[in-house]
Amino acid sequence: MTEDPRYGTLRLFIDGHWLDAGTRVTEDVINPASGEAIAALPHASRDDIDAAARAADRTFKPWKALPAYDRAKIIRKAADLLRERVEPIARLVVLEQGKPILEARQEVLAAADIFDWTADEGRRTYGRIVPSRMPGARWLVTKEPVGPVAAFTPWNIPIVIPARKISAALAVGCTMVIKPSEETPASVLELARALDDAGLPKGVLNVVYGVPAEVSEHLIAHPAIRKITFTGSISVGQELAKLAAQAGVKRATMELGGHAPVLVFEDADLDHAVRSMVAAKYRNAGQVCVSPTRFYIHESLHDRFVEGFASAAKAIKLGDGLDAATGMGPLANPRRTAAMERLVVDAVDRGAKLVTGGERSGNRGYFFQPTVLANVPTEARAMNEEPFGPMAITSSFSSFDEAIEQANRLPFGLASYAFTTSGKTAGMVADALEAGMVGLNNNFINMPETPFGGVKQSGYGSEGGTEGMDAYLTTKFVSQT
Ligand code: NAD
Repeated sequence: MTEDPRYGTLRLFIDGHWLDAGTRVTEDVINPASGEAIAALPHASRDDIDAAARAADRTFKPWKALPAYDRAKIIRKAADLLRERVEPIARLVVLEQGKPILEARQEVLAAADIFDWTADEGRRTYGRIVPSRMPGARWLVTKEPVGPVAAFTPWNIPIVIPARKISAALAVGCTMVIKPSEETPASVLELARALDDAGLPKGVLNVVYGVPAEVSEHLIAHPAIRKITFTGSISVGQELAKLAAQAGVKRATMELGGHAPVLVFEDADLDHAVRSMVAAKYRNAGQVCVSPTRFYIHESLHDRFVEGFASAAKAIKLGDGLDAATGMGPLANPRRTAAMERLVVDAVDRGAKLVTGGERSGNRGYFFQPTVLANVPTEARAMNEEPFGPMAITSSFSSFDEAIEQANRLPFGLASYAFTTSGKTAGMVADALEAGMVGLNNNFINMPETPFGGVKQSGYGSEGGTEGMDAYLTTKFVSQT
């Protein structure tokens, strides 16, 4: 395999050492825009994983003991380095993941903002004093870092998802072994490099790759690990939650899939709804767990909405993410193009109308056209399983209750969206939707300072906001007389 010189050599990062492939097993990393291999990724051996867990264990006490003020300085310095390095890092993201360079830049800058916010918030890990029932007694509630964390992150948002986990854990005094996706390995290595260059003590953060099921089984069971955090599919989440329980009731945060409903009510600003949702739908080619997917449109607006949406979708330029003119890149891997084809054929077979897209594009890489399917029956697979791709599916409703019933029908509840100019309807819909996040007349549901997480099978625990810091803290009550 020939390495792509634009991409560079991949290493493991264990106990502060950057480890070459050497005699380790390797796996090819593929550029989804070409389908060609661009680098060989070394897999961590069992000894490597043990060394990473031992390093996280050994460094936990001194890192926890370092004042939060000093931990914050290191994380903020890393944020500055990410900003300085935005261009080269964004190019790596495009080469391994496929998204347009503009989105990759935004992702790197968003990660820097996340680092800044969590670094500061780590300094505010306050406890509280509870008035005691006993004369002369002091009752204190304190917060402590949970311990070394094992993190598992996916390929779709390879910088921001790990940035959330790493910065929150480190800011409150936890150490970490992270196994990011083997399909997008350079991204997290760049986060680790920024922290290493910013002066992070060796061993506090460790990055390993391998066969996912083997790494997770070994790492989660390791006695040093106290907490698991995972972002990915529901099926893998179930597996890891089981391992965490078996390994000693270890704490876990699960950010799993979604299938976001969008409700467009009769009084909505239609043009605004179309603009906002087209941007959200085709960002990262729809490979986002909060991507709007099931569009329930009031029957009086349905056809106009579909027309506007499809015409905006058709205008999106497909291409290599490194081309500045590209509006949407390839899908990240051939599993996604195959899934898109399967879902389109099934929906059409069941009576849906294919309004635009529905096919692969070109004969290189994993491109799939921005797709709109209208009047999709409830029993179509796309209405029930997360497409995780550039597919919008619509249906119409006639009453508020019907819209809510459809939106809440699935066993997932991550993001949801609604468009209405009525304050009363907005309030009612916010209360009625079973979801971790509700975007009312907008798609701004993911900021460093706001909680991000799901209900039902979309998982448990939050990232972002003060809730995201709590995920890495335990509570201790001290009663002193
Ligand atoms: P998958 O279920 O095999 O993998 C999902 C992620 O989990 C990948 O990053 C993978 O590396 C990791 N993984 C897989 N097995 C693991 C294990 N035993 N231990 C630790 N990590 C493991 O499927 P996929 O084809 O990559 O994606 C399929 C579906 O997963 C998508 O359609 C989507 O629904 C969901 N997904 C969700 C997110 C998200 O942000 N919530 C991200 C990626 C994928």
